[in-house]
Amino acid sequence: MSFAAKLAFKERVRSWAQKLDVHVVWLGVRPMRSKWASCSTNGHLNFSVDLLSLDPTFWDYVIVHELLHFSIPNHGRLWKALMRAHLGDWEEIEKKLKQNA
Ligand SMILES: [Zn+2]
Repeated sequence: MSFAAKLAFKERVRSWAQKLDVHVVWLGVRPMRSKWASCSTNGHLNFSVDLLSLDPTFWDYVIVHELLHFSIPNHGRLWKALMRAHLGDWEEIEKKLKQNA
């Protein structure tokens, strides 16, 4: 795993967190068995190291997806509307990411 990529990824998370007004207490990038990320309501965020080798388009998808869960715990209408507002055609990105997995 490249240290530079990890740093770039974390910077991207911080910049999205600022934009979405989310307070991140803990930010980790580590090996994960079966998912891209996890978040908890106490401000802890963890991302899979496997993301680092993917295109930053996928970074943004996973980052915004998780950050929105700090205020919206589901994938309902509001969550989807915000995903579209920030990422455009996020469903297409999601589809490609699933093909990558
Ligand atoms: Zn989700």
